[in-house]
Amino acid sequence: MTGRVTLVGGGPGAIDLLTVRAVRALADADVVLVDRLAPHEELAALAPHAEIVDVGKTPGHHAVPQREIEVMLVRYAASGAHVVRLKGGDPYVLGRGGEEVLACHAAGIPVEVVPGVTSAIAVPGAAGIPVTHREVSRLFTVVSGHAPLDDEELAHLAGLGGTIVVLMGIATLPSLVAGLARHGLPPGHPVAVVERGFSAEQRTTVGTLADIVGTAARARVASPAVVVVGEVVRLAHDGEAAAGELMARAAAMSVIA
Ligand code: SAH
Repeated sequence: MTGRVTLVGGGPGAIDLLTVRAVRALADADVVLVDRLAPHEELAALAPHAEIVDVGKTPGHHAVPQREIEVMLVRYAASGAHVVRLKGGDPYVLGRGGEEVLACHAAGIPVEVVPGVTSAIAVPGAAGIPVTHREVSRLFTVVSGHAPLDDEELAHLAGLGGTIVVLMGIATLPSLVAGLARHGLPPGHPVAVVERGFSAEQRTTVGTLADIVGTAARARVASPAVVVVGEVVRLAHDGEAAAGELMARAAAMSVIA
């Protein structure tokens, strides 16, 4: 009998940010293929009947290549297992979930997707930064910083006017801030880098477009981290008085507009 695959969004790393549906899928799993940024803690207890296979990167070791993970999913499921593919955050947010679903479809394996709490929203939130806030920002863009953005993308991002959230963006931070500045965002525009959200080592580094590269380098910020660019950063980090001032300014602007 053919098994099936459940692609599960594991959230930003804390076990209690798994959904009830995710916990149910794990409890029923025969095999769990787990990513580096998915929750590992207590996984054996959550999936007591399952063989747990770590396909994520560990320091000094390469991750299992994506194509190979897809082959493994199909192979385990074809042998009759219920395979849970536990991923960090939400499977469809810069997580290659779509590729894994397509691989299952191509092999005729039933597949279901369980959404997860994405780090793009939750990690800024853990640092007290709302990605939208009435009168301050009514849109947010989530972008991968895995490869540098091209000039056209930077121009669009700078022109949008909302909050910019960058995942996998530590290595490309210098080119991001230089590009946004080149396309007109002011030097004082706030930037925050939130590392290791929801862990005991969570840390937030705050600066501006003009100084964040130096500040982040001195603080030795490292992945995993979420970069937030936008006025919403002030709501968490400039203290109540400055946040109040920002709100007053934003309200005044919206009256003029
Ligand atoms: N699908 C995932 C994102 C995968 S890309 C999601 O929806 O969250 C991996 C990137 O996510 C990391 O490089 C980092 O930018 C971010 N990330 C994931 N978990 C994080 C955490 N706990 N703290 C900070 N950043 C995190």
